Amino acid sequence: MAETDYRQLWRQCLTAARDRVPTSTFNSWLADSEFDSADGDVVYVRFPNEFMAKWARGHYGDLLEDLLRVVSGNSRISLRCIGDPAEVSAPAPPPVTRQPPARDYLHPGYTFERFVPGRNNELAHAGALSVAREFGHSRYNPLFIYGGVGLGKTHLTQAIGHFVRQHFAGCTYRYISSERFTQDLINAIGGHATYEFRRDYLNVDLLLMDDVHFMAGKERTQEEFFYRFNELYQNGKQIVLTSDRPPVEIPDLEERLVSRFQSGLVADIQPPEFETRVAILSQKATEAGFRFRLEVLELIASVIKDNVRQLEGAVNRLSASANADGSSLTPDEAKLLLADYLPDLSRIISTGSVLAAVAEDFQVAPSLIRGKQRRREVLLPRQVAMYLMRELTETSLVEIGRVFSGRDHSTVLHSTERIRHLMDEDPILKRRVQDLAKRLRS
Ligand code: ADP
Ligand code: MG
Repeated sequence: MAETDYRQLWRQCLTAARDRVPTSTFNSWLADSEFDSADGDVVYVRFPNEFMAKWARGHYGDLLEDLLRVVSGNSRISLRCIGDPAEVSAPAPPPVTRQPPARDYLHPGYTFERFVPGRNNELAHAGALSVAREFGHSRYNPLFIYGGVGLGKTHLTQAIGHFVRQHFAGCTYRYISSERFTQDLINAIGGHATYEFRRDYLNVDLLLMDDVHFMAGKERTQEEFFYRFNELYQNGKQIVLTSDRPPVEIPDLEERLVSRFQSGLVADIQPPEFETRVAILSQKATEAGFRFRLEVLELIASVIKDNVRQLEGAVNRLSASANADGSSLTPDEAKLLLADYLPDLSRIISTGSVLAAVAEDFQVAPSLIRGKQRRREVLLPRQVAMYLMRELTETSLVEIGRVFSGRDHSTVLHSTERIRHLMDEDPILKRRVQDLAKRLRS
């Protein structure tokens, strides 16, 4: 066999190894090996130094030899890993681990089943579901999802990957961050391997490209991506992109890319509203095997407003300290447990605590106050509760309305105005409401 054939053989062998070895390991230890020479059935492969050769031999020698046999079709081949002679005496610092393994890796929990839909992500969620279900002939190509940090872009994107992997056997996908794409491109250019790089990116039916805003100002990356994009697109392959902002707002993004990005569906994700935050908390708690009380979840949801990752952090905190399934944890205990994670919490008055205080003061069950009855004994405490929520919590009229069996925000407005008016006329009521407010604030 000619030397070039051997080189080619070893490269195929590495490509096969790449799928079987953790990406970071592959990049750190195996990627820089090269065919050195062959002697009969013995193939010598050279590593940058003796230390790395020894490590590769010890950890992956058998695997590499097997792959070499399969790829060459010659079962007698044996592999020898050798260090670069120029580096024999080099001390052996462990090589620096390059990028974290972002490639082709789907987080096992980032599925559609675990994604909580809400009004904040309605379009993005629907778009992603449609791309997944109608994979291969979706109207939404590319699907471009944008939104702030920690709002579920990566989760939703990977959910498409999971779905396609499960339901469309034989289809290939690639999940990659733009940061990683850029890094791969730089490596490929440096290692004169742009051909392999292009082939890697062309051999997919689905490209999930995360955080494209990272390409801002990187001309060479944009150029390369433009071509990869067009090739995939013209071959009818699905592309999903995410960014922290809409295409037009990405600074220094070439006009042609902007218009490509906008040619399918552009969908945003906003910070989740109160109920969605509660639903996400509840979902995360369930996943962790906990059943916290609704008041506890509402308490957390009232302070963390614009980052789902932080919501998760709070659940993790509580899960770590709560007993059993967490169902006996009270809002006050939760406040204590979360005091250093959420300093704002101790100052926060939740709608739940207002409700509890009013219920106690008026001796009416919280469920009646929240409910639909219009008897006077419940009407007054209900309106007082609405008033205090509006005064003391950071809850919007709409959200307050939802606490009361989904009443309209104008009802809340009307009720709070009525209490204000009554307080002007009735010093006893005024005193009572002020005392309640004082107690809640303390
Ligand atoms: P982004 O990529 O937008 O920065 P991620 O997708 O990494 O955000 O989401 C951050 C965390 O919040 C993840 O653990 C994800 O599971 C969770 N998350 C975000 N939105 C939702 C949602 N709607 N339902 C369930 N989990 C969510
Ligand atoms: Mg992300």
